[in-house]
Amino acid sequence: MISGAITLLIHIYGVVQGVGFRPFVKKLADENKISGEVKNDGGIVIIYATAKEKAMNNFIHSLKALAPYGAVVDQIEVQQLPYKAYIGFKIIESTYTSSKTPVIPTDLPICESCLKELYDKSNRRYMHPFISCVACGPRYSIIKSLPYDRCRITMGDFEMCEKCAEEYESSERRTFAQTISCTECGPQLILNINGTETSKQTAFDNAVKIISSGGLLAVKAIGGYNLVCSACSQKAVRKLRLLKKRDKKPFAVMFNSIDEIAKAAYVSNVERQLLLSPARPIVLLKSKSSGICGEVFAESGRTGAFLPYTPLHQMLADACGTIVCTSANISGEPIIKDDEKMLSFVSEHLDGVLYNKREIAASLDDSVACVIADKPQLIRRSRGYVPSPIIINAVAAEPIFAAGGDLKSSFCLLSGGSAYLSQYFGDLDNQAVAEVYENAYKHMTQLFGIKPKFAACDMHPLYNSSRFAKSLGLEVVQIQHHFAHIASVMAEHKLSGNIIGVAFDGTGYGDDGAVWGGEFLICGSSSYVRAAHLEYTQMCGGDNAAKNALLCAACYMYAAGRQSFDEFNGYHTVKAAIEK
Ligand SMILES: [Zn+2]
Ligand SMILES: [Zn+2]
Repeated sequence: MISGAITLLIHIYGVVQGVGFRPFVKKLADENKISGEVKNDGGIVIIYATAKEKAMNNFIHSLKALAPYGAVVDQIEVQQLPYKAYIGFKIIESTYTSSKTPVIPTDLPICESCLKELYDKSNRRYMHPFISCVACGPRYSIIKSLPYDRCRITMGDFEMCEKCAEEYESSERRTFAQTISCTECGPQLILNINGTETSKQTAFDNAVKIISSGGLLAVKAIGGYNLVCSACSQKAVRKLRLLKKRDKKPFAVMFNSIDEIAKAAYVSNVERQLLLSPARPIVLLKSKSSGICGEVFAESGRTGAFLPYTPLHQMLADACGTIVCTSANISGEPIIKDDEKMLSFVSEHLDGVLYNKREIAASLDDSVACVIADKPQLIRRSRGYVPSPIIINAVAAEPIFAAGGDLKSSFCLLSGGSAYLSQYFGDLDNQAVAEVYENAYKHMTQLFGIKPKFAACDMHPLYNSSRFAKSLGLEVVQIQHHFAHIASVMAEHKLSGNIIGVAFDGTGYGDDGAVWGGEFLICGSSSYVRAAHLEYTQMCGGDNAAKNALLCAACYMYAAGRQSFDEFNGYHTVKAAIEK
């Protein structure tokens, strides 16, 4: 026994899997002359360490202070064990004994080091569209179950080549990198045009030719397929509108660098930070006049801009210039994630499918954000943010499933003080969207090991989310729509006491069975008083008025005695319908 040496059992909680944490621990242990073992357990990291006390203190301090990029150490628990001698420090086989809810890493954008290698002709991963390391690459979207090891993610379908296997055992940036691959192993790029396929560099070169000459491609991304075309080609964007059956809404645009974004839109410091943040969200910016064709923006004065997050997107944006990059779905349908479905999709407007054979375990749309009063606001919280929990002040005694609403749906699993929000799904009146929602519930409850005791749902008797919540056999709590909106804001911003909540979000089922709209509620944490509201009026189109603010406004304008409403040319139809 080394004199003065102790043995400790260390539990580390937070985002500590899929971010190169175990190799980091080993390096730190070697530097501090600590012997022992490290392993993933469920969603946490466990260390057995033997060393002298001073070295041990330095080691424990550095676990948090020097944690690798992408890791978030929430908590370190230390417990002394009887002295045990180890030979060296090893990374050992994962186990699954921890009962604590794990924190699962979000998908990470390509890092600076990988980007350099991507364009380094002497590197064996030159132009490899799936280059990644311990600090970057897909994570949540490819996890089938925990702990985070190759056999439990969709990379498990690919065998490593000899060189990658060597790097996996011992290298600066890819030791235990579960997404490791190269041009010889792992997923490869394939371009399918009417059933004829080319692969690797040829596939990429052909794809660039198609996009650059005004064609439209489906491109497999992290959480599903994108539809991609040149942002400067009116012909291509028109094809995209026809394919998506989308007349007016603007499309998101991907630029190869922040400098290119600044040429097309005004970018404040906060917006810049948001664009460059690891989630790489689409950020709504005020447009400048630029080379992007007007067809992209339709009637909007804003540019939904974002930066590439995969090596493939970076390569495409570098080779083709600014591209329109939108989720591959027909209006109202969920984003397409399976190759079979995308390859069998027939449209005269689509010129090919650029894909790879790595399965997507969880579909994720791109996230959308904007900056209001210098603060980032999320409009759609999905890729890059999910499944990071939002930590709230209250602690749930029993886990809760909150089903959310039917429009622009998402749900939440509350375990302890952590609120795990699902990705964005779309509107649940679409059967295919409802299926994705239900599958995501199964996937997330299983992944996090959360077994809800209560289901919270909207009071609306016809909501699909409410029906699903009631079908689970849990104790059901029904919550008024607008109170749920305000309570969510209170939870997210840790507000307590009585607050005045204002909810103007279209329509929601009220306590009195009427459809409520503009609500002023005085809210506590579990109850509310309806202090004021817009007067009841006749509403055309039922729940459709919730989707169409102009229709809703026209009904109110009619009730207020206005004879015409210039912004909405359907005013006379509304008037006739109400008077009938
Ligand atoms: Zn990297
Ligand atoms: Zn390889």
